[in-house]
Amino acid sequence: MTETIVIVGANLAGGRAAESLRKLGFEGRIVLVGAEKDRPYDRPPLSKKAMRGQMPEEKLFFRPLEYYDEHRIELHLGVRAERLDGTSREVELSSGTKIGFDKLLVATGADVRRLTCEGATLPGIHYLRSLEDARGIRAELAPGKRLVVIGAGVIGMEVAASCREEGCEVTVLEMLEVPLLRAFGRDVGALYGQFHRERGVDVRCGVGVASFRGGDRVEEVVTTTGEVIPCDFVVAGIGVVPATGWLEGSGVALDRGVLVNERCETSLPGVYAAGDVARFFHTRLGRHVMIESVENAQLMAATAVANMMGKSETHAPVAWFWSDQYELKLQSVGAVDDYDRVVYRGSIADKQFAAFLVKGDRVTGVLGVNRLKEIAAAKKLISASIPVVDAMLADADLPMSKVLAGPTPAS
Ligand SMILES: Cc1cc2nc3c(=O)[nH]c(=O)nc-3n(C[C@H](O)[C@H](O)[C@H](O)COP(=O)(O)OP(=O)(O)OC[C@H]3O[C@@H](n4cnc5c(N)ncnc54)[C@H](O)[C@@H]3O)c2cc1C
Repeated sequence: MTETIVIVGANLAGGRAAESLRKLGFEGRIVLVGAEKDRPYDRPPLSKKAMRGQMPEEKLFFRPLEYYDEHRIELHLGVRAERLDGTSREVELSSGTKIGFDKLLVATGADVRRLTCEGATLPGIHYLRSLEDARGIRAELAPGKRLVVIGAGVIGMEVAASCREEGCEVTVLEMLEVPLLRAFGRDVGALYGQFHRERGVDVRCGVGVASFRGGDRVEEVVTTTGEVIPCDFVVAGIGVVPATGWLEGSGVALDRGVLVNERCETSLPGVYAAGDVARFFHTRLGRHVMIESVENAQLMAATAVANMMGKSETHAPVAWFWSDQYELKLQSVGAVDDYDRVVYRGSIADKQFAAFLVKGDRVTGVLGVNRLKEIAAAKKLISASIPVVDAMLADADLPMSKVLAGPTPAS
């Protein structure tokens, strides 16, 4: 009988998994189910060029629509998986259809966390996860418009930068003491706060939103410190929640996401998970981690598919992420919350530097701003746990190959 593989979540991890199955020679039935109306597309431009209308939407899609037919990938768009029956091995869709599977990939990513304070449902308050969300924000953009961004995480700060470049007056409210703390760590997060202020963004830390006021639309943000900020629109970027509601009661183990082992297998045989929805066991770190990034979603999808096809592959990456804000191209490698000092190479004033996050004599993470050569070396420093000396890291004239060779007796 023909084998059926069902993939729930038709975006990066799910879309790439379907492609890989065919590339690896899977001849059976592939069913790809996605809640969005759009076929798989690239999310990073949504907070940048696509949101600003500088990139035609057609360029966002990974594949033309015909690709899915040509590769016999049954695409069900605008349909949600409502329930997984782990015993009968069926997925129940919002259309009422039940699809049986031999193997299943959970690739449902994450949903935005929503504000619940007074006024939070007023029109003009936006979130950003999907292409549809980006279209909504794009319609608000015009020079001189007043935007309040709630939450100075990566999405919030990328939106702040893009809207500022479109001529909006931007205020950012962040509950924590520095912006971008979770993504970039305390030191580089503080530097980014400074970079945004230099561009005229009013970045306020240690303050959140208490309520929104307005008539037909949002007109004012009332902060937790009692200030009232007039606004024309709001974008909230207060984090995401793994999209696992449909898996409750299915037997798939959940803990702030779908728990998988290093082979991307869930607790149910034949059921795999990949991407932002999955918390995987990292063999080098010895614990479960979740990495919300493009690279991780793609690598995990590839590992899950390879293992579905009978191989034995392990997912154990060094986390890699990038964020573009203004002309600042940042790449981050490794962990950003586990260090005792920062060693800078290059020039902060010229906004061309690498910040090595160091613990003892090991690099735990690196953030490179407009200075990308250090990133490839950093992956090796971290994965091979090479000892380092601060003076060598800081010496911009010393090639990274020398740092990778480890300390010399003289250093
Ligand atoms: C604006 C923005 C900018 C970003 N920029 C960067 C960047 O610069 N660098 C980087 O590395 N990463 C970036 N990311 C993160 C990156 O896009 C994600 O890590 C990646 O998309 C994760 O892929 P995924 O397939 O796991 O999840 P998703 O892309 O979220 O896809 C999951 C899909 O599953 C669907 N779904 C959910 N529940 C169900 C259900 N029950 N039934 C059917 N379908 C369902 C969702 O609608 C969605 O389409 C950015 C994200 C956003 C939103």
